[in-house]
Amino acid sequence: MSNTIAIVGRPNVGKSTLFNRLVGQRKAIMDNESGVTRDRHYGHGDWIGKNFVVIDTGGYVHGSDDIFEGEIRKQVKLAIDEADVVLFMVDADAGVHGLDEEFAQVLRPYLGKKPILLVANKADTNARAHASGEFYALGMGDGEIFAISSANGHGTGELLDEVVRHFPEAGEEEPDSGVPKIAVVGRPNVGKSSFVNLLLGTDRSIVTDIAGTTRDAISTRYNVFGHDFILVDTAGLRRKAKVSEDIEFYANMRSLRALEECDVCVVLIDATRGIESQDVNIIGLADKNRKGVVILVNKWDLVENKETNTTKEFEEKIYSKLAPIAYPPIVFISVLTKQRVHKAIETAVEVFENKRRKIPTSQLNDVMLKEIERYPPPALKGKLVRIKYVTQLPTHNPVFAFFCNLPQYVQDSYARYLENRMREHFDFKGVPIGIVFRKK
Ligand code: GDP
Ligand code: GDP
Repeated sequence: MSNTIAIVGRPNVGKSTLFNRLVGQRKAIMDNESGVTRDRHYGHGDWIGKNFVVIDTGGYVHGSDDIFEGEIRKQVKLAIDEADVVLFMVDADAGVHGLDEEFAQVLRPYLGKKPILLVANKADTNARAHASGEFYALGMGDGEIFAISSANGHGTGELLDEVVRHFPEAGEEEPDSGVPKIAVVGRPNVGKSSFVNLLLGTDRSIVTDIAGTTRDAISTRYNVFGHDFILVDTAGLRRKAKVSEDIEFYANMRSLRALEECDVCVVLIDATRGIESQDVNIIGLADKNRKGVVILVNKWDLVENKETNTTKEFEEKIYSKLAPIAYPPIVFISVLTKQRVHKAIETAVEVFENKRRKIPTSQLNDVMLKEIERYPPPALKGKLVRIKYVTQLPTHNPVFAFFCNLPQYVQDSYARYLENRMREHFDFKGVPIGIVFRKK
């Protein structure tokens, strides 16, 4: 790895808070290649043209009296060995702590060999920033103390300026860009955990359980059935909520957060219950956020007396509840009997491809201008709308701009007509598409 930053320091100084700030939206991806548990989280970030990888060493297990024994020491050393720049984080609010000295001892042999920056976090105010001078006592860092606030971002820019000075190269771009991020959501008990565990293989446990920290949303990059994808928030699905009355609440919170982060939202529905109002809500939200959607009707094994029409009737019920949203594909699966799980993943990957589809302007116009000619916008208040051409906007999600003389006179029903024709000619299955009218 090139351009690697390791954040080390005792628990609770704010390592993961800084980590999350540095990697932004690109949350921690567990490195699962070796198939073993690694308590180091990796994330990608960039600053003034330099790409970098950040390692957060925070995920060790508390509990033993001497937390500095064994595992933690090993993890920290591994991270330092991998790093080009080490951020040694201390807590400006708490002052020098005994464990800081222990970390300083681990780091001391690297002094002069690797840049080690002493970072005094929680310097939310100027007073605290000034007080951080007391950390000189640790004899670490090359004479400078970076007083920052990971919480409000204060000082992090200066810190990054210094960090990237040590990176001669631009570094590699995030390797996960272009890999679909898939969130598995749905009501409690529909089979989300079972589904994810089936995909990930049973109990090659990879996620460390850390209660009550910001590390809840850990994503996992996997290759299953020949498809690369990232499952968002696998930690949430692998851990069962402890307080049962809160299950619904946390399940909702988690779904919302996972939804924000994903490209494609896989909504599981229980075949024995059918689509429920929460399902409709979450699909509506996915649509608003312009995410891809795949509906999986799970526990299909429990549906008795299946006939040729059973799936069709089921589909019709779902679409009638979802109207006017009509684009999500529906796959009938059973996690229990492993029925069509392969198809489910393939469909999610297809939806991702559809979401990224760019249609050349010439092709769009060839096809759509004919459709417009066949059925022109109906006149409104005697005004005649003439659409001249159409082009796809350079957005992350498919949006098509129809240029015309009087955009304000185009009716919603006509926009729907255009959307339907678009969907007939081009594969946008599972993807919300935007139709906008611009003045020309
Ligand atoms: P870690 O154990 O070192 O990874 O620490 P965390 O990132 O989990 O943070 C520990 C606690 O410190 C959390 O409650 C954070 O919200 C809080 N914290 C982190 N950074 C700051 C900061 O810059 N200012 C303040 N006031 N609190 C912070
Ligand atoms: P979650 O709350 O959505 O994560 O749901 P779980 O994965 O914990 O599953 C809830 C229950 O449904 C468990 O008892 C599973 O064994 C069961 N289950 C999951 N998938 C299927 C399926 O395809 N068929 C049947 N019959 N049961 C299933």
